[in-house]
Amino acid sequence: AASRPLGRLVGDDVEVPVGGATRRYVDLDAAATTSASAAVVRAVQDFLPWYSSVHRGAGAKSRYSSARYEEARETVLRFVGADPATHVALFPRNTTEALNVVAFRLALTRGDVVVTTAVEHHANLLPWRRHAQLRVVDVDRRGVFDVAAVVAALDETPRPRVLAVTGASNITGWAPDLPAVAAAARERGVLVVVDGAQLVPHRPVTLAASGIDVLAFSGHKMHAPFGAGALVLPRRLLADGEPFLVGGGAVRAVSYEEVLWADPPDRDDAGSPNVVGAVALAAAAEELAADRETRRGREDALVRALDDELATVPGLRRLGPTSGDRLPVAAFTLDGVPHGRVATWLADGYGIGVRNGCFCAHPYLTRLLGLSDDEVRRFHADARADRYDLLPGAVRVSCDATTSPADITVLGEAL
Ligand code: PMP
Repeated sequence: AASRPLGRLVGDDVEVPVGGATRRYVDLDAAATTSASAAVVRAVQDFLPWYSSVHRGAGAKSRYSSARYEEARETVLRFVGADPATHVALFPRNTTEALNVVAFRLALTRGDVVVTTAVEHHANLLPWRRHAQLRVVDVDRRGVFDVAAVVAALDETPRPRVLAVTGASNITGWAPDLPAVAAAARERGVLVVVDGAQLVPHRPVTLAASGIDVLAFSGHKMHAPFGAGALVLPRRLLADGEPFLVGGGAVRAVSYEEVLWADPPDRDDAGSPNVVGAVALAAAAEELAADRETRRGREDALVRALDDELATVPGLRRLGPTSGDRLPVAAFTLDGVPHGRVATWLADGYGIGVRNGCFCAHPYLTRLLGLSDDEVRRFHADARADRYDLLPGAVRVSCDATTSPADITVLGEAL
């Protein structure tokens, strides 16, 4: 761990020490987190002198702060094509919190079944596992499922309550046919909850047209800072019951005998909210929405560049599909070299930042690696015994529209 930066800022770049010299830092970890864009930095700087308590103060700054907070909700609803008459936007900390909130708010019981998929990040698996039974749509050897598999799971499950599905995988960048999957669930009266953490930064999502009921995503994956994500959902889901987080601001009246909860969205907004985070997220959303096509073109070129570069590396095994529509994300193993050593070598030898490990999607990763049941049991035994250097895993490189194509060339040379 380094408590001071291991490099220095040079214009928009970061330079890091590599083998006695310095190199431009090559950030190939956009699927984990993105740095703040200039537009977001400006929006935050402009707002910092003005933020104040929202919804409580009568003063000018409070009024302005409250208006900006409500405006951020409207921006988020517009950004995902949700109807403000039926939907509300909340600002949980991130996708993880958003999915915990919705899983809690649906008041599921142990008898309820949630249909989900083997592709899910733990954020879209563990909250459902806590509250209900799971019916998991499996993946094939390439790590994908088709719409028919989801339809079969929905039809084989007696009265499923929810379909919890990812918009795109954080390991392989593969994106399921969301409109088709969502339509199938909708037709069967099943609520469609989408983990949009990876999809939303890269593709437009329109709730009203797509059959998606609930969408969660994180600001820090779309060039806003940590601490504010979004949960967009039908107002009716929040109309009854206790909120996930209880406290001030979520109520109309409190006595020891009775609590009268506020209407949505205030009911689910207990405590002082992250107004600066909401303003930053809204600025990031507007910036993305204004420039989707250019970004898509750049990202598709990066997908091709990754495919080409990685195909030339001896002993490299790609995980997940290498054709069709994908985000600019690629996961792989190198024969005979532990994933941790590959990642460290890229960082120390070339100034390249990637991620390695299991990517918070253990069931999917074990399927992609083709681990047997015995190997999965060994994985758990090693994890239980803190033998982390033995754990299975892979290396992931991930880009977005701000990634330079030259970075992929550097990666190819390094590998
Ligand atoms: N879902 C997916 C697909 C993700 O990639 C991530 C982030 N790795 C999450 C959920 C969780 O996001 P956060 O850490 O912002 O809660």
